Amino acid sequence: MRIVLFGPPGAGKGTQGLRLAGKLRIVHLATGDMLRAEVAAASDLGRKARDYMDRGDLVPDDVIIGMIKSRLKDVDGMVLDGFPRTLAQAEALDAVLDDAGLPLDRAVLFRVAQEELVKRLVSRAVEQGRSDDTPETVSRRMDVYREQTAPVIDYYRSSGRVVEIDGTGSPDEVFDRLESAVTGQVAS
Ligand code: ADP
Repeated sequence: MRIVLFGPPGAGKGTQGLRLAGKLRIVHLATGDMLRAEVAAASDLGRKARDYMDRGDLVPDDVIIGMIKSRLKDVDGMVLDGFPRTLAQAEALDAVLDDAGLPLDRAVLFRVAQEELVKRLVSRAVEQGRSDDTPETVSRRMDVYREQTAPVIDYYRSSGRVVEIDGTGSPDEVFDRLESAVTGQVAS
């Protein structure tokens, strides 16, 4: 299966994506995690990405598309978390998957109210100390999500591949909804 997860910062894509990939025995590809590893390793890519990430802006499409393309080689099942975030990225992904004859099965959108997102990001900042979880950067990332990533969901909506789930509640509750959404079964 090929699944894309969408949702604003703090929606829970990372936690749930990892769990879903484990359950389905497919690869979890999280572009934010990959970029943080590149920054930590002080690679060329990490140096290019760092300032954008610290501001809460998107890393340029060519950098991200190059990075993800190399990871998509020879992979036929995956959960994509944090990619695509722009229309250009969505088109590049479709081109790669079409070439491989492996279309996307589902795009899942996590819905979480704004106040809850802010609460979660504040506690994540305390627990994980991520350098882009400051109030200014969080607010910039929310704007970027609305302006650049929300249109990508409409792009997938036009082909009928979007399923929306409620991202509030315990991690187990959200996971049950996610599993039902991707397998097409009705939530119990
Ligand atoms: P969140 O969903 O909480 O914003 P991520 O870990 O997915 O966090 O992303 C962190 C940062 O990494 C983003 O703010 C952005 O700078 C960069 N990034 C991750 N994925 C992409 C992408 N697909 N395109 C551009 N930049 C990205």
